[in-house]
Amino acid sequence: MKFKSLVFLLLSLFIIQSCSSIPGVKEPSEAEINAESLKAYNEVKAKAKISNNREWKEMVDRVARRIAKASGENFDWEWILIEDPQVNAWCMPGGKMAVYTGIMPILKTEGALAAVMGHEVAHATKRHGKQRYSRAIKGNLIGAVVGGAAIAGGQFLCKTQTCKTLTGLGGAAAGFAVAFFDRKFSRGDETEADHEGQVFMARAGYDPAEAAVVWERMAANNGGKASDEWMSTHPSDKTRMKNLRTWLPQAEAVYSQAPVKYGIGENIR
Ligand SMILES: [Zn+2]
Repeated sequence: MKFKSLVFLLLSLFIIQSCSSIPGVKEPSEAEINAESLKAYNEVKAKAKISNNREWKEMVDRVARRIAKASGENFDWEWILIEDPQVNAWCMPGGKMAVYTGIMPILKTEGALAAVMGHEVAHATKRHGKQRYSRAIKGNLIGAVVGGAAIAGGQFLCKTQTCKTLTGLGGAAAGFAVAFFDRKFSRGDETEADHEGQVFMARAGYDPAEAAVVWERMAANNGGKASDEWMSTHPSDKTRMKNLRTWLPQAEAVYSQAPVKYGIGENIR
């Protein structure tokens, strides 16, 4: 009993300390964010059904490998193809990627897949959402000390389908997962990821003209409605397509320097 009281006192002090220090809070380091990201990714891997479509898997493997290299980032890269009808793809901080089988037929070409993966990788290399993840990790730590309920409560905050599916895991990385899967990047972040992603795909050897076409295929699939996962977190608009066409000469200059050129790659069947 005495020991419990002591523990409670220490925890209380820790909480008070944590709360009182929030204005000048020491944000988690990149290594800490990446560690939370890895935990969330491992939960996804444990729960998700990994696709056994060999042709698609090989395509995702080679595109991911080329985009990762083109990014110039020294992440501990990992990627999976998840068997799931959601039209979705993402890259967590630290280079943990996933592509959902639902997005593959809509993309139609390997080059379009390179555009999507380039865009997602750019969010990670540009450290978009870092502050949000920091807050989530911090909040989760405090919540865990208070009673664990805060973690389970995370599920109710989820709005997107992926978030609902995956944070029901009740895992240690729930706070991070909510922040990641309910992500809505700012318009500025989206523009930056579009721009950088197009450069990545060009450097990786894919025709950068395919980037603008992705949005048309996505919109056509939805009949113009943003009902799917990737579309709901990545609002499409004419400005983005226009931007991608405006940046094309710059991306084409990068493409011309690519040691191997794959064009739009293979068709996705
Ligand atoms: Zn995005």
